[in-house]
Amino acid sequence: MSLRTCTLCGCGDLGPWEASPCPSVLAARGKSLGNADAAVYVLERADGPLSIYDIQRGITRNFGWEPYRPSLTVSVANDLRCCWAGKGLYALYRHGLIPGPRKLVDVAKIVLQAQDTELTADEISFAMRHLGYRFQKQSLINALLKERSIERVAWRTWVFGTDRPISNIRVAPTVTKFERVVERVRQSVSLALVEHRRRLSRTGLGLADTDSIYTDGSQPPAEPWRDASLSEVVERGMAPERARSLCDATCDSDRD
Ligand SMILES: [Zn+2]
Repeated sequence: MSLRTCTLCGCGDLGPWEASPCPSVLAARGKSLGNADAAVYVLERADGPLSIYDIQRGITRNFGWEPYRPSLTVSVANDLRCCWAGKGLYALYRHGLIPGPRKLVDVAKIVLQAQDTELTADEISFAMRHLGYRFQKQSLINALLKERSIERVAWRTWVFGTDRPISNIRVAPTVTKFERVVERVRQSVSLALVEHRRRLSRTGLGLADTDSIYTDGSQPPAEPWRDASLSEVVERGMAPERARSLCDATCDSDRD
């Protein structure tokens, strides 16, 4: 599969809905960008998911105009280049997220379909955080329990019924691109599951939402870090730059 690269936005692999030239190239050519293109431009410069508030701030900083927040929210939610990353948060394909889903249960369906095996709620949750999603585990469990296309095969494992296609989730415009996305999800989730098992065997205990071993995955939930000072977070085993960016991200996303 060909990789579409772009040096201007630093992208090695454009998402299935992203077109070339990207907004970074368009802006460099002096084209004026609308809300959605400007949002993608800002996300192209981000290290991970941003809140709508941060996207709005980024647009003002880069282009000198302030988009009306409710219109920006609608533009970003409707633009398939923007990947939903949790409540009020968006990123791009290059950040590891899946194009299409706008809610937790749809992400879980793709994870289950890509993995093609039964997974526990703990595994699904860990894998989704590893992909970059931010959420509370209980919200995911509630969504799994309500979704009829996801079957509970034992009291704690779930499987996605393959007779119910996920074609209503607009992951990609073509089958080839769809398969490329699902393959990346499969590889990423497989790695996450190996890591999940390693941590479980290390502690010999189950993992709770607030366990630091649980939260030092790719994207910890906001709550446990909220009251921790930077030094406490570092003490719990996280690199200072990573801890600092998480603290910043947590503070910013609170406003949305
Ligand atoms: Zn680009």
